[in-house]
Amino acid sequence: DDLLDFGLPEEGLEIFGDRGIEELYPPQVDGVRSGVLDGRNLVLAVPTASGKTLVSELGILKSVFSGGRTLYIVPLKALAYEKFELFKEYERYGFNVGVATGDYDRSADYLSDMDVVVTTSEKADSMLRLGTDWIGDVDVVVCDEVHLVDSDRRGPTLEVTLAKLMMMNPGAQVIALSATISNAREIANWLDAGLVKSDWRPIELKEGVVFDDFIDFPFDGGKEVCSDEDDVATSLVRDAVLEGGQALVFTSSRRNSRGAAGRIVGSLDDLLSPMEEDRLMELSNDILDVDGVTEEGERLARYVRRGVAFHHAGLRNTHLRRIEKLFSSGDLKAICSTPTLAWGINLPARRVVVRDYKRYDPNYGMKPIPVLDVKQMFGRAGRPGMDPYGEAVLIAKNEVERDQLIDRYVVGDTENITSKLASEPALRSHVLSTIASGFAGSYSELMDFIDRTFFAVQNRPEDIQLLVKRVLGFLESEGFIEVDGFGLGSGSGFDATAIGKRVSELYIDPLSASRILERLSGRGMESDIEFLHMVCETPDMDTLYMRKSDYSRVESFLKENPRLKERGEMDDWFLSEVKTSLLLKDWIDEEDDGDICDWYGVSSGDIRRKASTAEWLLHSAAELSKMSMSLYINRLRNLQRRMQYGVKKELSDLVSISGIGRVRARELYKNGYRTKSDLHELIDNQSLVREVDGVGAKTIEKIKRELGGNE
Ligand code: ADP
Repeated sequence: DDLLDFGLPEEGLEIFGDRGIEELYPPQVDGVRSGVLDGRNLVLAVPTASGKTLVSELGILKSVFSGGRTLYIVPLKALAYEKFELFKEYERYGFNVGVATGDYDRSADYLSDMDVVVTTSEKADSMLRLGTDWIGDVDVVVCDEVHLVDSDRRGPTLEVTLAKLMMMNPGAQVIALSATISNAREIANWLDAGLVKSDWRPIELKEGVVFDDFIDFPFDGGKEVCSDEDDVATSLVRDAVLEGGQALVFTSSRRNSRGAAGRIVGSLDDLLSPMEEDRLMELSNDILDVDGVTEEGERLARYVRRGVAFHHAGLRNTHLRRIEKLFSSGDLKAICSTPTLAWGINLPARRVVVRDYKRYDPNYGMKPIPVLDVKQMFGRAGRPGMDPYGEAVLIAKNEVERDQLIDRYVVGDTENITSKLASEPALRSHVLSTIASGFAGSYSELMDFIDRTFFAVQNRPEDIQLLVKRVLGFLESEGFIEVDGFGLGSGSGFDATAIGKRVSELYIDPLSASRILERLSGRGMESDIEFLHMVCETPDMDTLYMRKSDYSRVESFLKENPRLKERGEMDDWFLSEVKTSLLLKDWIDEEDDGDICDWYGVSSGDIRRKASTAEWLLHSAAELSKMSMSLYINRLRNLQRRMQYGVKKELSDLVSISGIGRVRARELYKNGYRTKSDLHELIDNQSLVREVDGVGAKTIEKIKRELGGNE
């Protein structure tokens, strides 16, 4: 009823009723009190799972019911789809909800009919660069996880995007959702917003440290761990499952996540019912049923059969999404993960174990992780509506360590977050895009714009002037911008060149573009490896680390390829570029996934992520060569297509069918099915199916579903 008083239409409230929401949580009430329904800007800094989304929805619904448009920004693609599914409920009122991720140089004009658009910060940035019209006509901007402005890599994009959106839509309501950071007030000042800050949680969270089979919860007494496993993390997991809960174990590395899961495997066998065992068996087979599954995937399947999984960024996306689903549905009892899981989709568990609180840092060795990170992992403890409470535990080896951990991570405050805009690669890219999209036509306009960023809240704009000038000098010398008059001064005006504009739209680092352009205009490139090295040489490609065992392989390759060798000194930097190029080459030459993993020390998800970056850079190179009339365009397009699926040219028709990857496509090809239309035969004649290795009944079903419509 209160909400009706605040002017939300009665019908709008049905949604919440249908979700089983009966009354607002205290921080939600505070959000309403501070004017989220009156269009006021708001920063909501409260713990995970305490209902931040709903507060933003109040603002969104109020706006869309009066014809307004919302842009909802999240940090990850998976989160965008999660929110999109949630907001699709609004379609019952006739509102249109859309989602936009990836494909950075593709126009987003088709979203102009949408009332709510969910997107990532990178996609929002790219839509601004493309001059998407409706972006200047937004009434509500929601920024989920705004504390990520602190992130070295992606923070600058987030703050620049928010600053631009605020400048373009001065009347728009900004709702920013945040973890409980100490300096939330600074974020609120930046966004000219009211602040609601609270530690309230919907279920009690007990935070503590375990030592000698006893969990010390400084604020909630203590608790014996009822398990006699040798390994502490395993005991904590088994104990939680004995009590009817699930557990998440956070480890410092991928290898540790596999190791920790390996130790748990077996300890839960007696706790699984025959029905659960059957179901896990089926799910484990699903994990195996992925094109080109590797040894690591097989290991995952083996563990899943016994109720445990590991989760890290090197795994294939299909596997990651499947594990997350299995855990939500309660089928899996435990996941051992790297900390990335804590920053992703909402995946709560009764008990969270932070097994490793130190992480390797190349400059400092093993180093304790920030309080904010531990709190983020802790915050995943407790499933609303299912667990009576959540428990979050760190592991100590002795009493001294226990007391230190309590002081630092249980009682202590989180760190302040800081702007990372003063980094040269970030500025290079954002200064160009600010000029190219017409935001700043002069030096003073550029500085005015910088004045609207979070950086300027924490520093004086002058602190960045020198760096901005250096970046402008670079952009001018590369021919991406033109500067009026003589020299760069505060009165200088500037404009992007056609090529500068295209670089900004392609969403690549201007330094990548300049390296690519230099390469394309140079002496004739011949072999695939030279094109692949061209993309690995750019700062947009994260190159692979050189292990001791890599040197002989990479160096002997270079001996046989003197043209490539000329490109660099024989230092680690160059060698790692070459190593990465070789991986990409093996990928498009259809080398076995498992072999590539062994040769390069990567996981199969890594191969795909590298390939996807390479595909984007090859696409960008093709686009740039169109503009510079280079001769390589067909060559680049061909490589780009092969990169997408990791195949030779002749398989490109087959791999475009979902469920058929590079391995199954090759098998089909060998058996004489070379195109989609050849496959119609398979559909008609089941007996032929059995002859093709790796193409089982499930895949046939998928093919049927996909090709069936075209018959
Ligand atoms: P956050 O964004 O803060 O991490 P969410 O908005 O995802 O948290 O909310 C977590 C869960 O709590 C969701 O399942 C949501 O439906 C539920 N929830 C939110 N507000 C309420 C409420 N007032 N009463 C009951 N459940 C709620």
